[in-house]
This record gives sequence, C-alpha cells and structure tokens, in this order.
Amino acid sequence: MSVVRACGVTGPHVPFQSLEVVRREPGPKDVVIDIKYCGICHSDIHTVRGEWKMPPYPLVPGHEITGIVREVGAAVTRLAVGDRVGVGCMVNSCGECDYCQRGLEQFCRSGVWTYASRDYDDTITQGGYSRALTVSENWAFPLPDSLDMAKAAPLMCAGATTYSPLKRWGAGPGMRVGVIGLGGLGHIAIQIAAAMGAEVSVISRTLSKKDDGLALGASDYWATSDEATFKTLFASFDFLLCTVSSVQNMGDYINCLRPGGVLVGVGLPPDPISFPMNALSRHKSISGSLIAGRKETQEMLDFCGAHGVEARIELIRATDIDDTYKRVVASEVRYRAVLDVETIA
Ligand code: NAP
Ligand code: ZN
Repeated sequence: MSVVRACGVTGPHVPFQSLEVVRREPGPKDVVIDIKYCGICHSDIHTVRGEWKMPPYPLVPGHEITGIVREVGAAVTRLAVGDRVGVGCMVNSCGECDYCQRGLEQFCRSGVWTYASRDYDDTITQGGYSRALTVSENWAFPLPDSLDMAKAAPLMCAGATTYSPLKRWGAGPGMRVGVIGLGGLGHIAIQIAAAMGAEVSVISRTLSKKDDGLALGASDYWATSDEATFKTLFASFDFLLCTVSSVQNMGDYINCLRPGGVLVGVGLPPDPISFPMNALSRHKSISGSLIAGRKETQEMLDFCGAHGVEARIELIRATDIDDTYKRVVASEVRYRAVLDVETIA
C-alpha cells in the first residue's frame, strides 16, 4: 500500500483541493505507473458536479492518463520498467463474460471505471489527477514512440471514443463525415476521420474556430448560428458524430443525414434529447458509443502514432483546475486541457 498526492473534491460544488489517495501494493499482474499527465475530459466535469448521478466523494477524477512504468509485478509479461504507457477510462474487467471475450470490455458486466467505481478489492477507484497509479497490466497501453506524452494523454479517452465509432461505421474514402462540436473529442475526431480518408466537415455553433478546424483536416466548416446552415446541409452526410456536451435539437442534425445515414452521439448531455421520429424515416439511424475495448484502444494509439494524430493542448497546473473546468464549460479551451501532474503539491 502506498499513499500518493492527488487533487480531488469532497462534494459536487466545492473547489479542488490536495488529497491523498491509497494505491494498492502491486499484485503479480499489476504495474505501478508514475503519472506524468492527465487530460481534463468533460466527463470529469459531469461526474464531479453530480450531473449524471451522485458519485462517491471524496473523488479524484482523471481518465486520460500517461506515465512511466516504475514497478512491475512478478507475472507481468507485456510491460517493463521505464515503458511509456497510457491508462484510459477503465482499470478492470472480468475477462470472461461474453463482452470481454469479444473485445468489448467497455460493456463488461463487472467492468471497473478508473474513478468513482468499486474495484475488485472493494475499494473505490480514484483517477489520474494524482502522482501514481497501480493498475493491471491489461489496462496500461504502450504508447507509440512518436507520440508526445502530454499530447497523447487525451487520446486515452477522446481518441478511443471517436476512433471506435468512426471505424465501426466505416469512415473512409467516399464517406462524408460531419463532426458536431469542436472541443476535446471533436478536434481528435476530425483528425482521425481525415486520416481514415473520409471527407470531413465540422458543424459548430459559430465560425470562431474555423481556421483550426480546417487545419485539423476538415474540408469545410459550418455554424449553426447561421440560419441557412441546416437548409444547406440537408441530406449531406453519411455519418455524423455528435460530441456536444449539452442538450440541443437533434432533429436538425438528423435532417442533415442522407437516406441510410447514421448519427452517433458520443456526447452525453445530462438531460434527455428529443427529436421527431419522422426525422429518421429515410432509413436513418441514431446510435450511441462508449469508449473502446482493449484491443481497439491499442489499435487507436498505433493509428494515431502512425498518422501523427495528437491533441492540441493547454498544459495546466493543479491550482488551475477549478478555473479550467469553467473554461471547458464555456468552450474556451483550445482544445484539451492537460494537467501537469508534477504540479500536484
Ligand atoms: P468539450 O471539450 O467541452 O467539447 C464539447 C463541445 O460541444 C464544445 O466545444 C462545443 O463545440 C459543443 N457545445 C458545448 N456546449 C454546447 C451547447 N450548449 N450547445 C451546442 N454545442 C455545445 O467536451 P468533450 O470533453 O469533448 O466531451 C464532450 C461530451 O462527450 C461530454 O458530454 C462527455 O461527457 C462526453 N464523452 C463521452 C464519451 C463516451 O464514451 N461516449 C467519452 C468521453 C466523453 P462548438 O463550440 O464547436 O459548438
Ligand atoms: Zn473522458
């Protein structure tokens, strides 16, 4: 057992403070990671503020983790001391259920999330706004050498969450993909979809980030604040990936799909979304998607390494977390805040 420095909250609407978290002694299949960076995902904010459901407090969030392996258990085979690794949204799965068997560990019947979740030793997990983590080697993924550790951290959630549906629904040459919302997930989605060969458009609220969207690989950029946009984009896309974190009228976006098109909502607004059923009548579908399984997470990292996909980041200090949360909610961050874990006092 070791005690490590962390940053967390004791309730839904209180400032972040220094905390200590206990990490288990590494078992034979565990590794101990010195965390270097942790991305600030909007899901951290939904969770901390109790917007989905009340989490257990005290709570240390963070599931976009990169770091260096400091110690390995006796039976570890996949990793060695000194390896650069990433840890994402999950830290355990049973390995035996039908979903685990199919590489869909994110649906494991007894999966364990990186924070605010009950682990197999009956402790509540605490996330990556902390100096170190003990985790099964199954849930620490080697980073390709070409990736920068700070810019790769957001791939562990934002990368997995966008790569998985883009691949599942066949993003590639000849496919018109629209990415709705240019934030943390959106800016990675644009890069991945473009690297897969799809023709990518961005649908944002305004044109204020247009130059960045085009530089990230989009070929055009639309603002929903312009009344003409939804008319112009009527029946334009084969696939829409909605990354927005707030409620909006989904019917307008569904109307932008071609017959047979699919809208996948990865953004998880706390409130229900409504749309008229006849928006779907031309063989259109709407689906959800949840991070990625183990195999696909490694595949995503290797893909990003091969295609130079990294997050555009603002490196922040531990004392900036409260202010950063406000800036994320106001969509002011370009495009992912990443906590420099060494600044945790
Ligand atoms: P983010 O960085 O805050 O980006 C969200 C984007 O949504 C913003 O940049 C903004 O884009 C748009 N937006 C925000 N408020 C809006 C509003 N009121 N109306 C319309 N658009 C709005 O958040 P993120 O970290 O990318 O996460 C996005 C969502 O995905 C969150 O709900 C998060 O919980 C969820 N998520 C889901 C999964 C999963 O596995 N399904 C994984 C990770 C995150 P524009 O300024 O361009 O309009
Ligand atoms: Zn996340």
